[in-house]
Amino acid sequence: MLDTPGTDTEQRDDQDRRRRPAIVAVDDEPAVLAAVARDLRRGFGERYRIMRAGSGGDALDLLKQIRARGEQVALLVADQRMPGLSGTDYLVRARELVPEAKRVLLTAYADTEAAIQAINEVSLDYYLLKPWDPPEEQLFPVVEDLLTTWESGAALESGGVRVIGHRYSKQSHDLRDFLARNRVPARWLDVERDSEARELLAVAGVDADRLPVALLEDGSVLERPTMLELAGRLGITAEPAGDHYDLVIVGGGPAGLAAAVYGASEGLRTVMVEREAPGGQAGQSSRIENYLGFPAGLSGSDLARRATDQARRLGAELVTVQEAVALRVEGSGRLIELTGGGLLSANTVLVASGVSYRQLDAPGFAELTGAGIYYGAALTEARACQDQHVFVIGGANSAGQAAVYFSGYAGRVTMLIRADSLTRSMSQYLIEQIAAIPNIEVRTLSEAIVAEGEDGHLRALRIRGPDGSETLERADACFVFIGAAPRTDWLEGVVARDERGFILAGPDVRDHGWPLSRDPYALETSVPGVFVAGDVRMRSIKRVASAVGEGSMAVSLIHEYLASA
Ligand SMILES: Cc1cc2nc3c(=O)[nH]c(=O)nc-3n(C[C@H](O)[C@H](O)[C@H](O)COP(=O)(O)OP(=O)(O)OC[C@H]3O[C@@H](n4cnc5c(N)ncnc54)[C@H](O)[C@@H]3O)c2cc1C
Repeated sequence: MLDTPGTDTEQRDDQDRRRRPAIVAVDDEPAVLAAVARDLRRGFGERYRIMRAGSGGDALDLLKQIRARGEQVALLVADQRMPGLSGTDYLVRARELVPEAKRVLLTAYADTEAAIQAINEVSLDYYLLKPWDPPEEQLFPVVEDLLTTWESGAALESGGVRVIGHRYSKQSHDLRDFLARNRVPARWLDVERDSEARELLAVAGVDADRLPVALLEDGSVLERPTMLELAGRLGITAEPAGDHYDLVIVGGGPAGLAAAVYGASEGLRTVMVEREAPGGQAGQSSRIENYLGFPAGLSGSDLARRATDQARRLGAELVTVQEAVALRVEGSGRLIELTGGGLLSANTVLVASGVSYRQLDAPGFAELTGAGIYYGAALTEARACQDQHVFVIGGANSAGQAAVYFSGYAGRVTMLIRADSLTRSMSQYLIEQIAAIPNIEVRTLSEAIVAEGEDGHLRALRIRGPDGSETLERADACFVFIGAAPRTDWLEGVVARDERGFILAGPDVRDHGWPLSRDPYALETSVPGVFVAGDVRMRSIKRVASAVGEGSMAVSLIHEYLASA
């Protein structure tokens, strides 16, 4: 049933109505449904169409109609206790129709247990206890937050920059990934499939052998742009504003972002340098479920967006698409050299440069990287995996999250793990989630030994099974998660590291060139005034929460260092 339009609404022209994304509410009790729709309309009616249905079945029909018209659904609000389809069952089915829509369950206090279970079953975004009075406090902030997150995702896929390229081209993939991770609204056009892409190329006068090409909103055309060139033209990169800082942070993952938030909010002149895009590894996580305070989990890109906004609001300077390439010590000054010759001078430095994916060393993998083989979750590829057979290599939480995420898009997801079970490498909640998803298959004692290509992109994987036999299997995409290593070569000869490149800190540096009579602070490296936090530190925990904790703790130690220096 469509929401009963008021006189004003009736007068809106049809196009305007269609442009507004929908919020669909479902409840079998007419009075409650009317109250939900009324409150949603009051809070969000200007920007969204509020639609309602009296049962899960009717709501699914409504969603099919909306989709058939090519319109968007931003939010689903469902009552849990309904005859026939329960709220959770409805949301499971609705997820197949509108996977991007945010999902909220309305529950009575007695149903809290069902709501908590639904967090796993349907990737629920929030559960709301009835009654939600006053809506200004109980309903509007929650819905506003979910809609802002949805809007930022929707904006990323519409308008802005248009990127035209070949789907199976590493350069095209890297460009799309870079724009998505830096949250630049961009639309992807596949030159093989989209006639619009070919028309645009003809108008811009670009040859098909000069792809990928980025068409910017100001009309400029960048053929095969480098990330730095694109970042410069889009205003993502910025030159440092100051001559000298209290704190330079290298790396914009959770550790670096936390340090930026605490450093700036506690009065330190703080600048954070990030090589690619804020968020680090966490920014590539499809759903972080174990970060305290987010019972329904949150996506890595959401965490990165929130933390970046927070750091900026509190006064931290962010210098992105710039890489730290050397550290110099000059008296009490600490100097960081950047790619392109820039130099940052500071009293203290925090190295929070994390780790990068380890590459799979088997024939075909290097050649096909970006063309069917991807390291990390490569979330930008998810849509292209619709109904395809996707392989995920690795048995840790990151691989498990990716398998769950891709199962919502791909026809079939096969996980290849070398161990005999997932229990030693993956959290129990993820193992349970995976077991409950019918289109994920877990193959233990199995490994991919060759990647074969056709026309420049992945076609098949040669797989060795538990009995040593080999099979060649068609593969449309393969996502690799086989651990990670720090990239700290730029600190060679300056800061003490272990044999794998992880940075030593605190008591560990005493026998590794520590020059002072005082003890090093807990997160201080072998160079006084240079601190380390997060995954790049030797013996770190490799979790978002611990990286955030260390980033904030480092700032407190930096205060002590500055006070005594
Ligand atoms: C797919 C995936 C899913 C995950 N899921 C979870 C989860 O659910 N829960 C959990 O707790 N943990 C999870 N993790 C682990 C978690 O993301 C990491 O422990 C955490 O991100 C570490 O934070 P960090 O700041 O130390 O480093 P990183 O996140 O690695 O960030 C380091 C940053 O430094 C930048 N950088 C590196 N070198 C330089 C340089 N020289 N100059 C400038 N910048 C540089 C990098 O580009 C990067 O952005 C996941 C990891 C992955 C990959």
